[in-house]
Amino acid sequence: MSSLINFLSRFSTATIQRSLSYAKHIDRETIEFFEESGDVTMYAQIEGTDYYDTAITYNPKKDRLIDDDCTCPVRYNCKHAAALARLFFQEYRQEFQQRSAESQSPRSIAKRQQGYDQAQRWLHDFKRQLEQTDPEHLPKQTLI
Ligand SMILES: [Zn+2]
Repeated sequence: MSSLINFLSRFSTATIQRSLSYAKHIDRETIEFFEESGDVTMYAQIEGTDYYDTAITYNPKKDRLIDDDCTCPVRYNCKHAAALARLFFQEYRQEFQQRSAESQSPRSIAKRQQGYDQAQRWLHDFKRQLEQTDPEHLPKQTLI
């Protein structure tokens, strides 16, 4: 069982200190999770000098952060990512640990997101098929 300090080890002590005051600037409404190759990416908007898009990537098997990314001038390992990592550790990590242990539960949020993407692709293909078949089919149908 890793501690919060271990979990945040990729960030400097100063950054972790500064991240404390940023926890309340995380816009909870924008939080999203994406799952890819067993890794979990958490995304949120954080209000700083500007609004920043911040993401952290967590590997449930290794139980540690493997990547982070931010649109602020620091770009990575910044106080925004540290604040997001802290929130993830406190409120979501355990859930993703369990989910990983249950080996790919179909209830996962990420799976629903994948389903949505697939529906979008089908819709796109369907529209394209319509565009392709329309000119040929219309005259035939009018003949029948
Ligand atoms: Zn940042």
